[in-house]
Amino acid sequence: MAFDTSPAIPPRAFSASQDFIEAENEYGASNYKPLDVVLSRGEGVWVWDVEGNRYLDCLAGYSAVNQGHCHPKIRDALIAQASRLTLTSRAFRNDQLAPFCEELCKLTHSHKVLPMNTGAEAVETAIKVARKWGYEVKGIEPGRAEIVVFASNFHGRTVSVVSFSTDPTATRGFGPFTPGFKIVPFGSIEALEEAIGPNTAAVLMEPIQGEAGVIVPPAGYVRAVRELCTRERVIFILDEIQTGLGRTGKLLAEEHEGVEADMTLLGKALSGGFYPVSAVLSSVENLGVLKPGEHGSTFGGNPLGCAAARAALRVIAEEGMVENAAEQGAYLLEGLRAIPSRAVKEVRGRGLMLAIELHADAGGARRTCEALLRRGILCKDTQLHTIRVSPPLVITRADIDWALGQFEAALR
Ligand code: PLP
Repeated sequence: MAFDTSPAIPPRAFSASQDFIEAENEYGASNYKPLDVVLSRGEGVWVWDVEGNRYLDCLAGYSAVNQGHCHPKIRDALIAQASRLTLTSRAFRNDQLAPFCEELCKLTHSHKVLPMNTGAEAVETAIKVARKWGYEVKGIEPGRAEIVVFASNFHGRTVSVVSFSTDPTATRGFGPFTPGFKIVPFGSIEALEEAIGPNTAAVLMEPIQGEAGVIVPPAGYVRAVRELCTRERVIFILDEIQTGLGRTGKLLAEEHEGVEADMTLLGKALSGGFYPVSAVLSSVENLGVLKPGEHGSTFGGNPLGCAAARAALRVIAEEGMVENAAEQGAYLLEGLRAIPSRAVKEVRGRGLMLAIELHADAGGARRTCEALLRRGILCKDTQLHTIRVSPPLVITRADIDWALGQFEAALR
């Protein structure tokens, strides 16, 4: 790599979508295959492209924008905090971290919080905490701790996290991998029971598998896993990075089965899409194993992120977003199921975390997403034949009625 030291490289004029697409394809890494729409503005459930066309966002930043795009109260909190203090590192205390931790603990019935940035970092943190707990509290022999995970899981992209992915696209070419994980089929309590042994420190699970295509486990499964973990003295870690904060029609998806995890991971909507904020929540016992210097992050717990997260949590409650997700989710699910289409194999999900699975001969989910794009709906394919439908939680019945017409036309 050589740097161009000529005095001034004239900035290129970007105006039409095609300009952005060409430059991104040329200069950006192609680790994603985005739909060719270039967005420049968002408000609530709506986004606009650089040509001024409006779209209903049915992905919501993979559930990071539960509160709707550019929520004014989160935006104002962020701007106010950005004008005061943005980063202290954890070498010093700041006046946003304590209220953030307290408010989040009270909201989720947790006792301790460890703030991080991305979801994958929260997962990494939970793995470290579970291992340390396994050695120091459960008495697992040094270096032998195991964590049981589920086939088709998605917990992020770091090396340790992809070490237990079953998706070849996520793993191919990235080894050697981190040992210490056992993978069992999602939905089988017998396989889980068999996999748990004296060296098991934790079970790590998504309450609904999002990236796998919105796979809802059999009724009672989360509760059965909870009970098994209690019986076997194993930490039950629920990754609610995508399912949490109202997405499924409850604040946390675990509530659907009336259980509480030992460690809960949040991210994405924790800042309403403004800023990467994630968190590990737990009892005193689990996070209590960490001592000063053993884990951290320069940005984790910074005042800007904490202020955004406090506002993001506040508006979820103040504006009834959890209840709206339950109500509008049920309406959208029913509406999608009622669409007469030979292409559709199944419509499934909970709250506003929904998916349409197409038959294998229906031409693929990507093609339908492109058809939806032309009709003003942004959806993302996941796996080959599944379309995720997860709009911001502020969606109205009128928005849904309009969207259902577009889905019907695209799925014809
Ligand atoms: N866990 C789950 C369940 C997710 O859905 C995701 C992202 O999609 C992650 C973890 C990783 O989050 P991030 O992309 O912020 O690292």
